[in-house]
Amino acid sequence: MLITGLDGPFALSDEDIDGNVKDGIGVYALGHEKEGRFCILFVGRADYDLNDRLHQHVGEYEVFKFRHFTTLRDAFEKECKLYHDFAPPDNHVHPERPIGTDYRCPASGCSH
Ligand SMILES: [Zn+2]
Repeated sequence: MLITGLDGPFALSDEDIDGNVKDGIGVYALGHEKEGRFCILFVGRADYDLNDRLHQHVGEYEVFKFRHFTTLRDAFEKECKLYHDFAPPDNHVHPERPIGTDYRCPASGCSH
């Protein structure tokens, strides 16, 4: 069974976001819970303010998981790993590298 390595799930509500998530760099997964299991429908990354980014998704999904990171590279690589491991149905394009960087996706065989 695949592990996200993220904290949660929490309800995707303004209250639960503010009660758990700080600003700063982070990776998140959005989805719903089915029979007690978290189903990932979308993964994303915030390079500046994870709290603010999650608020923008309120109403779109039921629950979220997240993790803060101290570097853009670590966040980008985590986002890529989630993207390749879970193939979330609502992610239609590969994660973008942080602006101004030349980071490469860590997945073997991936050209991004
Ligand atoms: Zn990749």
